[in-house]
Amino acid sequence: MFGGLESNLRGRNAAEWTHPDDSPHVWKLYEELVRGEREHYRVEKAFYRPDGTVLWTNLTVSLLRDADGLPQYQLALMEDTTERRLLNLRLRYEATHDALTGLPNRTLFFERLEKALAAGENARFGLCYLDLDGFKTVNDSLGHAAGDRLLVEVADRLQSCATAPGVMVARLGGDEFAALTTGPDTETEVDELAGRIMNALAAPIRVDGRELTVRGSIGIVEGPAGERGAAEVLRSADITMYRAKSAGGNRYEIADPEADARVITRHGLTTALPAALERGEFFIEYQPLVHLGDGSVRGAEALVRWLHPQHGIIGPDRFIPLAEHTGLIVPLGRWVLEESVRQARLWESRTQGGADAAPLRVNVNLSPMQLTHPGLVSDTVDILEREGLAPGALCLEVTESALIGADDDLLKPLRRLAEMGVDIALDDFGTGYSNLANLRRLPVSVLKLDRSFTQGMQHFPADPVDLKIVEGIVALAHSLDLAVTVEGVETGHQADQLRQLGCDTAQGWYYARPGPPDQLHELALADAVG
Ligand code: C2E
Ligand code: MG
Ligand code: MG
Repeated sequence: MFGGLESNLRGRNAAEWTHPDDSPHVWKLYEELVRGEREHYRVEKAFYRPDGTVLWTNLTVSLLRDADGLPQYQLALMEDTTERRLLNLRLRYEATHDALTGLPNRTLFFERLEKALAAGENARFGLCYLDLDGFKTVNDSLGHAAGDRLLVEVADRLQSCATAPGVMVARLGGDEFAALTTGPDTETEVDELAGRIMNALAAPIRVDGRELTVRGSIGIVEGPAGERGAAEVLRSADITMYRAKSAGGNRYEIADPEADARVITRHGLTTALPAALERGEFFIEYQPLVHLGDGSVRGAEALVRWLHPQHGIIGPDRFIPLAEHTGLIVPLGRWVLEESVRQARLWESRTQGGADAAPLRVNVNLSPMQLTHPGLVSDTVDILEREGLAPGALCLEVTESALIGADDDLLKPLRRLAEMGVDIALDDFGTGYSNLANLRRLPVSVLKLDRSFTQGMQHFPADPVDLKIVEGIVALAHSLDLAVTVEGVETGHQADQLRQLGCDTAQGWYYARPGPPDQLHELALADAVG
């Protein structure tokens, strides 16, 4: 245990075996034993080996007395615990650090935050809670390996922002990071820290030969120690970060207790989701899809909303990601499909015998998680058969980011549905990092051009490059036999331009906002009459 050199042990006084990690009571117990005041003791103790390395032991020392009962010998039993101790340290390290980036993880961050919040008078803390903007798109379109490399680079850059002593940077999970600063001057420090983080993210990150622009939203919480618990502080940071995201992202916001109270936490919404589905708190609005050539209503997109008993109507951008995260999207999506198909059947029955208008079709959004769910095809077939709707009256919208890079297994269910006559639309087209050559592999029949293209045409004259891009996409789509739908048409001017560029169908506030199902029927009827 000591390195085999007997001569190093013999003739040495026990009191020489000190080690800087000895706690004072080790030597207090020893002296009590030597004086005959105790019979034995047991401690954990470190020793230097002759070569300078450290030996950790469980040390049990017993007193042996002579015939008169006076202390005569000490008997020391030592168990080498060096390996076990190293293993424990490693386990502790692994339990408190993120394997991918090597940064402290949520557990360790929470411990530190708790400690900072329990610090004495005049102590303050400052917390930056960072969530990357649009990280999911990178993961979905470039794959998880690329996403991982991006996170590692972000972690390195964040670490380099922690210049002041006592600043801790941690990865809380996914694309969420946090930086904690403590001391008396956190009010100014935390601001500077957030600024440094935004700067550090400004330069594009190279992953797989691509330059990716990384942006983030930061929620800042700063305050005196001793007032709030760690969980409360993190919740406030999360809400504030979310506020920064809602304001467009790529910015930081400072926590405000009033705003905190107003905002519903993501956590609160997530836990309320399952019951909401059971209680029927979701409803669907329908937004007309209008044929650009003749202005007739051809169908509608079903857009789900949540009528929350306390918070009123909540939009899908708020809760669909949460439902996806928890898996509730599968039953929720099935419900939306069922409702929408029933609605389409109703429109059909009401136009029958009336005008010679084509039946109104319904578009339903599918989440990535529904795509990989084994019941997708059978559920859809069941619903269509039960409600008696022809497959051709249904269009399923899948986002570009969910399909790009998809392998054949993922495409198989969609292909089955397409063969049955269900239309598949590629939603939000133009927002991912897609490879246009990939389009021909996909079982899609419609491209839905993202709102960002339409926005470029809001002002007169429209940006000529924007126009060229849309013209090019339309030509490509048509050459692949894909119809083009444009989203977010807000003005007549946009509609004119898009018609001239050859787009087939349009959707947007210019025609109608998403609304109750009857709105569509009335519009369609007005068409037929007009
Ligand atoms: P999306 O499929 O791209 O839907 C279009 C969004 O654009 C809708 O937002 C719609 O209200 C909005 N919009 C329509 N016209 C205009 C316009 O002229 N200007 C502007 N600025 N916006 C317009 P909404 O309803 O908030 O839905 C957001 C997203 O939530 C949808 O994007 C879709 O991806 C998702 N979503 C909605 N319902 C469902 C659903 O039932 N299941 C799934 N998985 N996702 C859904
Ligand atoms: Mg859609
Ligand atoms: Mg869309």
